[in-house]
Amino acid sequence: MDTKRILTGDRPTGKLHIGHYFGSLQNRVKLQQIYETFIEVADVQALTDNFANPEKVKNNVKEIVMDELAVGIDPNKVTFFLQSMIPEIAELTVFYSNLVTIARLERNPTVKTEIAQKREIFGESVTYGFLGYPVSQAADITAFDATLIPVGEDQLPLIEQCREIVRKFNSIYGETLKEPQAYLGENKRIKGLDGNEKMGKSLGNAIYLADNEEEIVKKVMSAITDPNRIKKDDPGNPNICMVAYYHNLFSTKEEIEAICEECKKGKRGCVTCKKQLIKNIVEHLAPIQEKRHYYEERPKLVKEILIEGTVKARKEAKITMEKVKNAMKLDYFKEG
Ligand code: ATP
Ligand code: MG
Repeated sequence: MDTKRILTGDRPTGKLHIGHYFGSLQNRVKLQQIYETFIEVADVQALTDNFANPEKVKNNVKEIVMDELAVGIDPNKVTFFLQSMIPEIAELTVFYSNLVTIARLERNPTVKTEIAQKREIFGESVTYGFLGYPVSQAADITAFDATLIPVGEDQLPLIEQCREIVRKFNSIYGETLKEPQAYLGENKRIKGLDGNEKMGKSLGNAIYLADNEEEIVKKVMSAITDPNRIKKDDPGNPNICMVAYYHNLFSTKEEIEAICEECKKGKRGCVTCKKQLIKNIVEHLAPIQEKRHYYEERPKLVKEILIEGTVKARKEAKITMEKVKNAMKLDYFKEG
């Protein structure tokens, strides 16, 4: 195994969707063979915008882990852990918060977009916790000495924020932390059914890995297509059609070529095109759902995986904490 360590994770705000699958999970499955991997169930981060809904966060913890296992994450290779069970992450967050200005956090483009999307929750004034979640994410990464972070594109500004914190920490307290790097896959940002630039759990525009056929039919049938195509034989523009966009992920090259050509000539109706997409998605997700079913029937096993991983992760975080406290001269009792 390479010496690099991976830290990645998901917020338990809903089940995982095809954006996760193409954007991040496929990379995780590939990279687990090469690098030691830690996967965080980021329940503390999920609470930053779901603080009034702890039940939702709690219920989604096992759903996320089952989705990960279903796509082929190997629990014997990877360490799954719960963020809230690692108090060192919260401690590091407090120390790092001195190294970041409010203005810098407010300028973070991902945080900015998300605040705008969450007006319903925050109104005119965002909470200190949400604004500061990039700081807590820097703590997640550095607590495990991770240097490789497989993420979707929306996470790049957060990784950059973490790198800045690491540099600042090291420049003040001495070389202690490692600067992480983002690892982006080929599909770095999967769009939503509504045409939104990002499919997201909290955006209501996702096809979930666990969706049954009925749900997939409903979602694909309502996906945004070329709005200028009114009659079946009007020439269409696949470049602005979400159905064509998802065909690129689920269909063969030959199918995609045929679809685009016939669409442009007005020879293929949207319903035919959608039905073909539905069939391909259902087929693609079948083995994933079969594996998920195995774990759904074994909740104890899922819990054990999470408990075992959390114990291991805590040990790692304690090592980092000691280094950080030494560097920050917070090792009072040690000095005697
Ligand atoms: P939420 O809406 O609650 O923030 P989310 O759908 O954005 O949920 P996260 O748990 O925040 O999911 O993200 C987990 C990982 O999946 C991150 O690395 C993120 O970059 C990646 N990811 C999420 N959505 C997409 C997407 N549409 N395309 C590519 N990667 C994505
Ligand atoms: Mg997100």
